[in-house]
Amino acid sequence: MNHRFRKGGSQASLFFFLMSLLIALAVLPACQTTGGVGRDYQEALGSNRKLEHQKITTVFVLVDGLSKDILSTGLRKKRVPSLRSFFSLGTESGFKFQLARAAFPSLTYPNLTSILTGLPVSKHGVIGNRILIDGDLVNFENVLSWRTLDQLVEDQTVFSRLRAKNLTSVSYSYPFPTDTTAHVEKSVDAGLHYIEERYDEIDRHSIESLDYLLTRTEAETWPRFVFLHLIGVDALSHSFGPDDSRVQDYLETLDSRLQSLFSTLESKTEDSSQAYNVVLTSDHGSQKIERSLDVSSLVTRLDRTIQLVQDNRIATLTFPTSYSLSAKRGFARELLQAKDLKATILKTQDGLETFTRTEAPLTGNEDLLWPAIEDYFRSPNAPDLLLLTNDGIDFSGDYVGNHGGFTSDELLVPLLVRGIQAPPENVKTSDLLKLLGLE
Ligand SMILES: [Zn+2]
Repeated sequence: MNHRFRKGGSQASLFFFLMSLLIALAVLPACQTTGGVGRDYQEALGSNRKLEHQKITTVFVLVDGLSKDILSTGLRKKRVPSLRSFFSLGTESGFKFQLARAAFPSLTYPNLTSILTGLPVSKHGVIGNRILIDGDLVNFENVLSWRTLDQLVEDQTVFSRLRAKNLTSVSYSYPFPTDTTAHVEKSVDAGLHYIEERYDEIDRHSIESLDYLLTRTEAETWPRFVFLHLIGVDALSHSFGPDDSRVQDYLETLDSRLQSLFSTLESKTEDSSQAYNVVLTSDHGSQKIERSLDVSSLVTRLDRTIQLVQDNRIATLTFPTSYSLSAKRGFARELLQAKDLKATILKTQDGLETFTRTEAPLTGNEDLLWPAIEDYFRSPNAPDLLLLTNDGIDFSGDYVGNHGGFTSDELLVPLLVRGIQAPPENVKTSDLLKLLGLE
């Protein structure tokens, strides 16, 4: 999740980020301690007698940017013993885990929204980290846009649905706080950690805070749903690339921190009527970036009234309404001058038209790709033209690792479960709430 300033990124975006952070911090409460969320939760239980409890607690762990390769490497190098044993990933020949399908584009905000609402991208309209709403660019990587995010999914998150039934939820994710029974606050500490790129501190705080809540709360009154969003793996993959040893070092740290949480779940439910299930998955994978492509000058040279959005590994164009179909087709072909582009996909009244330089299929996994792209274009916010790059190319210019594209590395993510039946292979991550009985 890239809402931080970028290494070597433009000064303007850094300035904008810092300003928005300062403004955000000015209106937010100060420091939140490890016990803060736990106390808020208990206070909510004390003050709202209508709240009900079910005999099952679901802990949904979203490890942002955990690609299947990052997890495989961790398992192969024996660096994730807690995950391996808690989710029973060991086999005679080594290890095994299931995969799930993220939504396209393989970016944080579309997928976070799909996971928490159970809706496809076409229904919630968060079609990128940066999207156009009524012609205006909204960038969800900026915390000030999170209010728009809340408005787009009003009453549709799992938190709202649980609240409507007087059931409880707790969230350790900065976006989507609305309607949770208690949630982690954007604090001055967290703000400073963002600026200093101390993602490990933010994750550590979230895990410890949840552990505290579960330890100090009677298991029978645990939240029905807990959402734990961990951001360090993604941050390090962006900075150093997903294959870098620092990503593995961090995964090992995360694994040992999760161990104490898993122990609490096990020990507190041992002599209790409360059951629990745990899902651990990711919002998208990641790819090593070799170089960056900027099509803004090419687009501006062709026509400056076209709206271009460059969003990590995808870019989109929205034409003025006066554009004819043949002019749009001409544009879709013209852009392929940029050798780092793999394809352009044009929305027409009759469906999608794909333009490529060669006859070769876009991917070896067409079954994975096309339903996701078709869903993307069904969104009311969908652009006219989608630009897809070759492997190892992005539109940002700031990262060693990135995502957003259509490759299996980005769209297929690990899915670890405990306490529920193994879902079907390649289940959509947006269907997980349904499988958990949390629709
Ligand atoms: Zn992400």
